[in-house]
Amino acid sequence: MSDLIAKPQLSDSKDCPLAGDHPVLQKIQTRDAQIGEHLTIRRALPNAQRRMIGAWCFFDHFGPLNLKTDGLNIAPHPHMGLQTFTWTLHGEILHRDSLGSKQIIKPGQVNLMTSGQGISHSEESLPDSVLHGVQLWIALPGSLRHMDPEFAHYPTVPERLHQGLQLQIIAGEFWGERAPAKVHSPLVGVALNAQENTEVVLPLNPSFEYGILPLVGECTLEDHTVDLSSLLYLGCGRKQVSLRMRLGAQALLIGGEPFKEEIVMWWNFVARSEAELLDAVRDWEEGDRFGHVQGYSGDRLHAPEINCHK
Ligand code: MN
Repeated sequence: MSDLIAKPQLSDSKDCPLAGDHPVLQKIQTRDAQIGEHLTIRRALPNAQRRMIGAWCFFDHFGPLNLKTDGLNIAPHPHMGLQTFTWTLHGEILHRDSLGSKQIIKPGQVNLMTSGQGISHSEESLPDSVLHGVQLWIALPGSLRHMDPEFAHYPTVPERLHQGLQLQIIAGEFWGERAPAKVHSPLVGVALNAQENTEVVLPLNPSFEYGILPLVGECTLEDHTVDLSSLLYLGCGRKQVSLRMRLGAQALLIGGEPFKEEIVMWWNFVARSEAELLDAVRDWEEGDRFGHVQGYSGDRLHAPEINCHK
């Protein structure tokens, strides 16, 4: 995805209160954005209340969209300093990038693009009944953010069924299962799908902070119920949490070791300074560094006007 909100806000990872090392239950309203005429995106991160959860620095939930209308068509755009992580519940998306990758992603699969110092890609939905999914970005640690770009597709992820709850381990390790996706910070992502009315206790890592976002229906952690409009942030310091979901509900649990480095994020870039962002915008507009997406018919996206605030 590209940050398609018309005037992207520059966000600094340390400009909202940190939760510290203790458990909290903080309900964070997602922000809605309309892409084209029909596609609704709910942005859970970054948010004024919370910029990151572990190294996860961006979390968009898109759809469900009935593809009898327009689909998703995101023209070539650049990324820097991050990994894009795509997971769908319904529908198929065609990814193309400046490395020459051309990959369809289907439900149950992961596309992981590591931008390193620079890559560009396009994303288009394919004809299907419904498009529904998430895209997250993972900030790269300073030691790796200038690495060469990579793209990987993972056709399967490990799964567990526990008391009527299906768990798909999409990133990191959870309950003894390790996801194949190659990430560079201690983090986790688990898709939760209730196959019956279920109540479970999930084991957590006390050194991780966590958040959960419903994707279908609602979920209840301890006594807090959240629906599609909110991310529930859990903080750090928990060994477990109780979860209730009704038949058919789906949610995504993400977590990770709090990211110690301060990042500056704007449009599709993760940097450490505004000067780096300005360099990236110039390089994209001049056709340097981010390569060329082959096979996409249409113009590429242009960077919006940058609104530095320091
Ligand atoms: Mn993108």
